[in-house]
This record gives sequence, structure tokens and C-alpha cells, in this order.
Amino acid sequence: MAKWVYMFTEGNATMRNLLGGKGANLAEMTNLGLPVPQGFTITTEACTQYYEDGKKINDEIMAQIMESITKMEEITGKKFGDKENPLLVSVRSGARASMPGMMDTILNLGLNEEVVEVLANKSGNPRWAWDCYRRFIQMYSDVVMEVGKKYFEELIDKMKEEKGVTEDVDLTAEDLKDLAGQFKAEYKEKIGQDFPTDPKEQLMGAIKAVFRSWDNPRANVYRRDNDIPYSWGTAVNVQMMAFGNMGDTSGTGVAFTRDPATGEKKLMGEFLMNAQGEDVVAGVRTPQKISQLHEVMPEVYDQFVAICDKLEDHYRDMQDMEFTIEDKKLYMLQTRNGKRTAQAALQIACDLVDEGMITEEKAVAMIDPRNLDTLLHPQFDAAALKAATPIGKALGASPGAACGKAVFTADDAKNWAARGEKVILVRLETSPEDIEGMKAAQGILTVRGGMTSHAAVVARGMGTCCVSGCGDIVMDEANKKFTLGGKEFHEGDAISLDGSTGNIYDGLIPTVDATIAGTFGRIMGWADKYRTMKVRTNADTPGDAKKARELGAEGIGLCRTEHMFFEGNRIDAFREMICSETVEEREAALEKILPEQQGDFEKLYEALEGNPVTIRFLDPPLHEFVPTDEDDIKKLADAQGKTVEQIKTIIDSLHEFNPMMGHRGCRLAVTYPEIAKMQTRAVIRAAINVQKAHADWNVCPEIMIPLIGDIKEFKYVKKIVVETADAEIAAAGSSIKYEVGTMIEIPRACLTADEIAKEADFFCFGTNDLTQMTFGFSRDDAGKFLDAYYDAKIFENDPFAKLDQTGVGQLMEMAITKGKPANANLHVGICGEHGGDPSSVEFCNKLGLNYVSCSPFRVPIARLAAAQAAITAKNA
Ligand code: ADP
Ligand code: MG
Ligand code: MG
Repeated sequence: MAKWVYMFTEGNATMRNLLGGKGANLAEMTNLGLPVPQGFTITTEACTQYYEDGKKINDEIMAQIMESITKMEEITGKKFGDKENPLLVSVRSGARASMPGMMDTILNLGLNEEVVEVLANKSGNPRWAWDCYRRFIQMYSDVVMEVGKKYFEELIDKMKEEKGVTEDVDLTAEDLKDLAGQFKAEYKEKIGQDFPTDPKEQLMGAIKAVFRSWDNPRANVYRRDNDIPYSWGTAVNVQMMAFGNMGDTSGTGVAFTRDPATGEKKLMGEFLMNAQGEDVVAGVRTPQKISQLHEVMPEVYDQFVAICDKLEDHYRDMQDMEFTIEDKKLYMLQTRNGKRTAQAALQIACDLVDEGMITEEKAVAMIDPRNLDTLLHPQFDAAALKAATPIGKALGASPGAACGKAVFTADDAKNWAARGEKVILVRLETSPEDIEGMKAAQGILTVRGGMTSHAAVVARGMGTCCVSGCGDIVMDEANKKFTLGGKEFHEGDAISLDGSTGNIYDGLIPTVDATIAGTFGRIMGWADKYRTMKVRTNADTPGDAKKARELGAEGIGLCRTEHMFFEGNRIDAFREMICSETVEEREAALEKILPEQQGDFEKLYEALEGNPVTIRFLDPPLHEFVPTDEDDIKKLADAQGKTVEQIKTIIDSLHEFNPMMGHRGCRLAVTYPEIAKMQTRAVIRAAINVQKAHADWNVCPEIMIPLIGDIKEFKYVKKIVVETADAEIAAAGSSIKYEVGTMIEIPRACLTADEIAKEADFFCFGTNDLTQMTFGFSRDDAGKFLDAYYDAKIFENDPFAKLDQTGVGQLMEMAITKGKPANANLHVGICGEHGGDPSSVEFCNKLGLNYVSCSPFRVPIARLAAAQAAITAKNA
């Protein structure tokens, strides 16, 4: 019989896959002898089983849960529904990877009218008893029955108004009892049934709700962003309550062993007296700093500090902990390796190495490559920043610089961003429903909440700039405006945020690019020691190439020559070429283009300092370049000595029904060999010149023919290239070498890779097209239906962002297995968007690729991901 439930005493930290992160760590803390309210964990496998059984908890699992309740009652000496010593529990979700705030928790479960009276009488603290009860009804109604929080919050606000108080804590036992009654009435009205009184029925409802929450929309979005498979499922933790809401000797808080924003080694955190769990993060009241606990309760503070040290030492990483003090007694409710900013991640990894806590290899392995993205994003221009005066200041909750137009709802943020606007999301506070809007925004500004508020935690996770808790803002969400620093801001007004200092500015402050230095450079240095795959970049201009070199690129894996035609008035000659009717006309136009291409290539080779440069020949459908406006058409007609009518006829003739599968790629070279000849001349002449200028470099251009599906196509184009190149080299008396290879982006090329490899010097997977051609849907149109595919669980990810290893990956593997034996010198790389995606990079490492190539700003991410892949492979 499978074991579906583990007591905290039966688990440990290594059982994360089965028990989830929270459950495994509660067990580990129990093993370490720390004060953990006891309970049990229902496994992630039980969650998967629940879905397999058609969203039902089967008899076997149910029986094990019941057995565990009995054990828990024995351990705690309390009983569900008991008239003497009633047991109250929390029901908490916990997946393998932490997903803060994504799934739901229910506290104080086990209460009913009788039990609440028992608690009130026995404790002599009726306020506490009724506070628990009203919270429970609220959470249960919201999470289990999906009644919605807002009705209850409205009732609380009304009650506070009637009583003339501003804070929840100022409500009396009587008020809370009254509220509990109102809540139950609300429940009955919405659900049509009485609020459940049987603790075991409540428990089963709550467990199912946690399983269900695995599939809620915000959890699905979070998983997609963080590469967490749906199949993992969540565990459920049932744990005895520790009460932080018993009065002034009780409280609750969260803390980090190091600063999650900067990495600085110091205890950081917040707590609230007379409060329960999520009060601290919900921004209901403004919490106190953890250091102040030293004054409030010195002994508890010292005990807590000792536990923090012990946990960090044990896990050898920065810990993020939750605790509750119940009448001066400390309880630990959670520990995990804390989420942190990229900057903090680097600092902490370096510090841990310096402290002798971890090895360099471990330091490389512990940094999430996706996280680095934020460091590679622009920061405010220093001069512009100096000149700017902040109009307000709050907590720098997630670093980075952001500017954009103010919007007031998550939906607006999403919609404005979708039409290309940069927006700053301004909210009283955020909640998990806002996640997509937060993602779409450049930055987030909240009126309420501390460093551990929802907005702060989520923004740090996403690497989005966030300034939180700006109490100076007078907010009018309903009318989409706020006042700050004496100025009224409306929807669409420009503001800038500094997520490091917490400063808020009026207007847009220009930003500048980031560089690799300090801890970043140190970690990259270590990463380079372990990595076996090379990292190149996709760059079309010398500027991009230079930036990529600074970020550690070891070559260009893809230069898209068509991108070079958009500069200045080059497009004119290019249009003349497209609209030529004879070879002579076309050659005349190409003569104009040749020197410009050659010049560009020279600059690229210069920027790459002798490192390999792969130049892809003209690829896109030609009609993308034809003029559309009348003036341009007239200009072209004059240049060609044709009438406007003639040009329009030519343009019409270029129209294609399915241009992505039309006259493009190597097909252009087959129909117009003169284009391939011109590009070859430009590549070779540039290489000869740069080689001459730098005798110590080894300039060896790699010419890449796109969209090959048949070896005969490749041979045909290669012959043109080789004849032209060899003639150029001979004429110049040069001994320069060059390679001719192909992009692998059509499934047929994978299927016949053995034939192609005999002729090709290299393969480079163009996984954008390969994905498009393999799935048979257009990468430009997929956005329209992908959401429906996510909702229907057909796709978990966008296959254009994360490589489809099962299908597209198999084609890649086939191309390598067939290609390598056919050509011992064949080198293989990838230059699709996936070349900078960490999980795809790992896959490429497994396939034995020689390099990945990605956009300049993803180069460091790819370097780190490649190192991690090599470390994983080595330790496997
Ligand atoms: P999340 O993963 O969203 O943080 P948690 O399950 O950790 O959700 O719980 C939400 C809040 O409830 C936390 O502040 C936590 O400390 C508190 N909490 C959970 N279980 C208990 C318990 N047994 N006693 C007291 N507080 C609890
Ligand atoms: Mg928690
Ligand atoms: Mg392509």
C-alpha cells in the first residue's frame, strides 16, 4: 500500500519532491529539535492521485488522513471538536518549489459555536476566541467555498466605522462575535447552506481546496513563468495552530537571515503583536522591525536569533522564516531558502564561499540564471538621476529602475502593455489576482505594505522594480488618480521609480545599460571554469556585438544580414534589388549594396577580435521590404526608370499567401544566385581586409545558408558560394579559410541530416523556425490561441520561449546522431530564441552542442546555465 501521509517526525529535508518544500522543512526543523507545532503532510503524489481520480480523495488516502489525525491528537493532547481541549489546525499548501502566495492557506480550522465558547471560557480570553472564529469563517468561505473576500472585508469595515475604530485590533470580543454571526449569515446567503460545524468535514473541505488551488489561474501563470511542471502537484500540511492573536504577549512575523534585497549579512524581518499569520504580509497594519522584538521580548528574541543562526548553518543558505509567539512561547512555522534579488543572490553566494560555507561549484549552482536578467536591465542614467528631485520616498522593495505611465488596475497594466506602452502599476496594495498586471508593468508602486508584502515578494521574484508602502500617497483608485508631493497624478501620467532607494520621481528619467562587475564578474568567472559549451551571441550590428563581447560572448552565432538594410537610405538600393526585372538590373542594385555589407562585416569582425562570426545569408520573404507608401513607391519608380504602375505590379507579384513558407531562405539564392554571390564577396573581402590588419587573429568566416530542406538545395547554393569565395581569395592572394554550413530549421533537414552533414561544415539549429515548422503553427500568430491552450492544459509553456524537448528536441537529437558520424568535423550550435533559456540550454548541453547563441543581454544567463548544466552532468 502506498504511503500518502507522513507525520512531521517521519520526514526530512531530502523528501522535498514528495512532501513539498514546506512539509520537508517542517519535518527537518522537527528533527533539529526546533519548536514546531506538530502535524502531518499529505504528499504531492496524493494531489496527483486526487486529479487522476477525477478530483476526489480516494478511500485509501482518506483512511491514512484519518489515522494521522488520531496520531496528531495523541501527540498534541488535543482533540478535534473537544469540549475540554479542542484541537485547531492550519491547512497549508506546499509544492516542491516554493510559490509564495500562489496557493491558499486556512487557519483556525476546527472551530464551531460550541468550540469557540469552550476556548473563550477556558482561556478567559473571549476576544481571542472570537477573533479566531471570525478569521476561520472568512478564510474558509473564501478559500474553500470561493465566496470572495470582499463581502467579509466590507462587513469588517462597516463594523469598524460603527465602533469608531480604525484597526482590527481595536474591535472587542463582542464586536468580533457579532461579526462571526454576520459572516455566517453571509455564508448562508451565498452558499445556501449553514456553515459546516463538523471539524473533520471542515478539514476534508480544506484539503480539497488546497489540491484545487494547484490549478487556480494565478498558480498556473506562476508555474509557467518559473518553469514548474503542472505534474508536480502540491502537498498539504495539516498543523496544530500556534496563536499570535492572544493579546500583547503574542505576535507573528517573518524574517530573513540576510537582506533579500542586497544580500548583506544581517537579520531582517518584520513582526506584529497580537496578530495572525498573513496580517504581516497583507499590509493590514504597518509592522515593526525585527530588531524591535529585542525590546518587546528579549528572551524570545535571543532564542529566535539562535534558531536563525542554526538554520542558516544547517541549510548553508539564506533562510526565510515564519514564526509565531503564543503567549511568550516561540514557534517556528516555516523555513526555506529565501527568495532574493539577483544582486543579493550574487552577494550571498560570494559571501558564503568566503565564509567557507560552500564551494565555488555550489555558488554557481545556487543562482537562478533567470534572475540575472534584472541586473542586465537598464539603470537610471546617473546624471539625469542627480538632476531629478524625488517627489516621494518609500521602501525600495525590489531593485532596478523603471519609468512609465501610471495605471491603476492590473487589467489596465496588462492591456496598456499589450499595446506597447510602458506602465507603472500604482495600487493601494497588491494581491495575487494582480499577478499578470504586475508582470506586464515596468515597475510597481504601492501605498501600503512592508518589505515582505505581497507586492514586494512577488516583484522580487519577477525581477520587477517595486517601491512599496508609500503612505504619503493620497490614493483615489476609483477615479484612477493619486496625489503625491503636492501634485495630482492621473492615469497615463509619467512617473519613475528607483527600486533600490525607494525614490519616486515625477516624469521619465532616462536609463542606461548595466555592466558585469564585482560579485557578478566573480560568479561568471567561476561559471566559465565549469562550463563546457561555448556561448555566442545573435548580433547584427557592431554595437550589439561589442555589448555581447563585454558580457562574455565568444563569437557570433547568428548575424541576420537582412537587418543591416534598415539603416539610413540603404533600403533604397535593397528595394531596387527586389523590384528588379532582369539579372542586370538586380546586379546593378547589388553593386550598390556590396560595399555597405562589406563595411558592416568588417566592423563585426573587428568587434569580435578574431572570434568566430556566423553570417546568415538573406532569409526573409522579400515583400517585407517593399515600399508601401506612395512617396516611397514614386522614389523607387524614378530610381529604376519605371512608372509607378510598373512598380505596383511588381509589388503585387511579390505577394504570397503564406510568406513564412514562401519565397525565402535558400530559395532566394536558388532563384537569384547573384544575391548569394554578392553576399559571399562581401563576407570574404571583409575577412581578407580584417585578417590583413590583424595578423594575430584567425578570421574564419562561417557562411550559413538558411532554410535548407534538401541536400541538393544546399549543394546548389554552396557551389555558388565556394566558386565566388575561392575566386576572391585567389585574386587577393590570400590564404584565408572559410566554412559553409546550414541552419537546421526544417524538419526534413533533421530527417536527412546524414546527407547534409557530408556537405556542411556546421549545423546551427534555428529553433524558432524549427518549432514553427514542427508544430505547424506560425510564431507570429500563436499568441492568439496559446492562452486557450494553457487553459485547456494542452500546453504548459510557450514552445517558442521554452524548447519543446519531446518533439522539436527529438528532431535536434536526430540531426546530431545522424550528422556527426557523417562528418567528424561537424560543429553544432543553436541560435533560436531558446539559446538563452536556461532549461533549453541544459538540454543543449545534454545533446552535446558545441555552443548556444543568444541575444547579447542573455549571454551571462546562458554562461551560467551552461555551467550549471555541466555541473549537473558531472555529478549525475
Ligand atoms: P504561504 O505559503 O502563502 O506563506 P503559509 O501556509 O505559510 O502560506 O501560511 C500563511 C500564514 O499563516 C503564514 O503567515 C503562516 O505563518 C501562518 N500559519 C500557517 N500555519 C500556522 C499555524 N499552524 N499556526 C500559526 N500560524 C500559521
Ligand atoms: Mg509561508
Ligand atoms: Mg529561420
